[in-house]
Amino acid sequence: MARIVQKYGGTSVGDVERIRKVAARVARWREEGHEVVVVVSARGGVTNELLARAKALNPQPNEREMDLLLAVGEQETIALVAMALHALGVPAVSRTGAQAGILTDPDHTRARILRISGGDIGDALSRGEVVIVAGFQGANLDGQTTTLGRGGSDLSAIALAAALEADVCQIYTDVDGVYTADPRIVPDAKKIDAIGYEEMLELASSGSRVMQTRAVRFAQKYGVPFEVRSSFNDEPGTMVQEEVVSMEDVAVSGVALDRNQVKIVVSDIPDRPGTAARLFEALAADGVLVDMIVQNLGREGRANLTFTVPQEDAYRAEKAVRPLQDDFPDMRVDTYDRIAKLSVVGVGMRSHSGVAGRFFGALAAERINVQMISTSEIKISVVVAAEEADEAVRTVHRAFGLGGEPGAGAGTASEAAAGEPEPPQA
Ligand code: ASP
Ligand code: MG
Repeated sequence: MARIVQKYGGTSVGDVERIRKVAARVARWREEGHEVVVVVSARGGVTNELLARAKALNPQPNEREMDLLLAVGEQETIALVAMALHALGVPAVSRTGAQAGILTDPDHTRARILRISGGDIGDALSRGEVVIVAGFQGANLDGQTTTLGRGGSDLSAIALAAALEADVCQIYTDVDGVYTADPRIVPDAKKIDAIGYEEMLELASSGSRVMQTRAVRFAQKYGVPFEVRSSFNDEPGTMVQEEVVSMEDVAVSGVALDRNQVKIVVSDIPDRPGTAARLFEALAADGVLVDMIVQNLGREGRANLTFTVPQEDAYRAEKAVRPLQDDFPDMRVDTYDRIAKLSVVGVGMRSHSGVAGRFFGALAAERINVQMISTSEIKISVVVAAEEADEAVRTVHRAFGLGGEPGAGAGTASEAAAGEPEPPQA
């Protein structure tokens, strides 16, 4: 017997029929003798709809009211899942985030979890009941409803699994697991059976939208093993856990693509101490998330700095940089949005040499130009032209022998269609 936390995303509870299927799946696990806690998202698209309504009435809605509103989506699904279980004769109770004892800081719409008491979940489980908990929400010390930021149900599930000392957390989604590359781009991409937290984090932050990065980080910190698997079949998915030695047998585990970045080139700024600090402090002050950074060799006392930011930060980034013109009169700022960031990720890079050579060799063979490079211990990222990105992914995937059976890729159903985080691209 195991204690299992199962999380179902927006697509998996998208309509009445799917909720019935979720209930049937939960019932099966319980019949096998397991204790089951279920965490659910709002139906796909509901959170976006609620947001849109709020914005239509007030461009700057009060954040406390916003949280009360956004928490509605998950409350609908917990109650419906409980009813569906009752219809199958399974004892089940639903709990809001507050009732589950998910205590957060007071930072409305992006609260952080402080502590989870679990409320009466333990008692309910020992009575043989299934407990269904609303994802994405909690309450602060004053009992006010808070939400954890978009995609926060993943975090709710992982954090509950940690607090309840669950044996595993199963993240049910609309894809079969984490793949060696996005199967929509690389038809022979393979599902990865097991992967370490660190690789999963790098893949998640490099364009794979299987799971919220924050949730992965939390799982790593508390050592919560979790499995990403499909809610549409019974195949095992991808286990994410503490790194195991055999994982180092392969140099590269996956290729990720992030099309959601723009490249900003700041040229003709003074090549002297403090310039970069001025620039990046200005960006940080405006909350711009800078990813890759390259400084070109200074010539005649001038330097160029190139960096990438998420698309949605591009305008803010330019605005943050503009005032520097007063001190750097020759400065020019150019933004390029037809780019993509491609990353190869693998813990094996620590012990394998020649990864960079093979990577750049593969790109060169296809005459794909590399615009920027950055590396970490287990990742190499490059910026390439957007129109060459798919070919680049296929080439690199092939060069590292990551392919499996042709056409064995994942389903292409997309949470993105419902306005949710996108499917796999690991
Ligand atoms: N419903 C919330 C959102 O759409 C939380 C989640 O789905 O994880 O962001
Ligand atoms: Mg989701």
